[in-house]
Amino acid sequence: MEKVVILGSGVAGLTAAIYAARAELSPLVLTGNEDGGQLTLTTTVENFPGFPEGILGSELVEQLKKQSQKFGARIKVAHAADFHVKDGFVEIVTDEETIQTVTLIIATGASARWLGIPSEKQFMGRGIHTCATCDGFFYKDKTIMVIGGGDSACEESNFLTKFAKKVYVVHRRDELKASKIMQERLFKNPKIEMIWNAEVHEVKGDSSVKSAVLKDTVTGDLKEHTIDGIFLAIGHVPNTAIFEGKINLDKGFIITDRRLHTNVPGVFAAGDVQDFIYKQAVTAAGTGCQAAMEAEKYYSHWKESKE
Ligand code: NDP
Repeated sequence: MEKVVILGSGVAGLTAAIYAARAELSPLVLTGNEDGGQLTLTTTVENFPGFPEGILGSELVEQLKKQSQKFGARIKVAHAADFHVKDGFVEIVTDEETIQTVTLIIATGASARWLGIPSEKQFMGRGIHTCATCDGFFYKDKTIMVIGGGDSACEESNFLTKFAKKVYVVHRRDELKASKIMQERLFKNPKIEMIWNAEVHEVKGDSSVKSAVLKDTVTGDLKEHTIDGIFLAIGHVPNTAIFEGKINLDKGFIITDRRLHTNVPGVFAAGDVQDFIYKQAVTAAGTGCQAAMEAEKYYSHWKESKE
């Protein structure tokens, strides 16, 4: 029986691993299919405290891994395919084995939704981004496009006008999904121009993005716009498929209380899998720490009850 199993090797999972390892719980981290999490899809992280020069997302993840292993965390490349709540413990099923654990920290994250067009892959993280807070700074005096019509698209496009000289917001319908107050802020911003009823058909460029071809969703007409970058704000998909019907979810995100407890005793959640508001590396780290401290308390009580 494991003391702590952590699902996910992004910032939340690895921070939880550092804390659980330092509490001598010898945590087992299962990396999941996206080893390192969303930070590995970005370039330089400039807003993580303590790195005034910025740090590559992949480098930050590597450092966190090393730090957790130094204190005794075990990191295994494996993907949790199923999850069962048992009497007083939980069970994780991977392709190779079934693992029983007293406590579980779910840090499986969320994956930004991508457009799914062929030309997108070429520019992922290098001209097409999913986090304005992280990568907007690279677009000083540039022209960019934000895709989406929800609160994120509004918030991110307003934020991006701090840097960019022009922001096009491209939405596939003729009205926004965003809340009224967010819409008002967007419409008031002189640097933002709406492009209604349009979808990205193709992204063109060489080592960087040069233009986007938009398709009118009503007429089917194609039109090319010269731009320097694209920010996708078309939602995130929390990685919670195996917990459906077993742990309480809200729109797919795991519901936790302020102490990161889920509704299943001994099961905690941290990072983007339970946070659809902040979605930042530093908040993921914070909740990873909290979840590990709560898991440690839970494990101590469990152990006492067995003695
Ligand atoms: P949403 O799911 O709310 O919105 C996604 C938007 O992207 C929709 O307008 C949708 O279009 C569009 N979209 C989805 N898929 C595609 C696609 N393949 N191609 C083109 N467009 C697409 O996601 P958000 O990230 O905006 O918001 C998530 C949650 O976070 C919401 O509850 C939101 O309120 C909240 N939030 C709150 C904020 C705040 O209060 N400050 C800030 C940011 C988010 P369509 O409208 O046609 O479905």
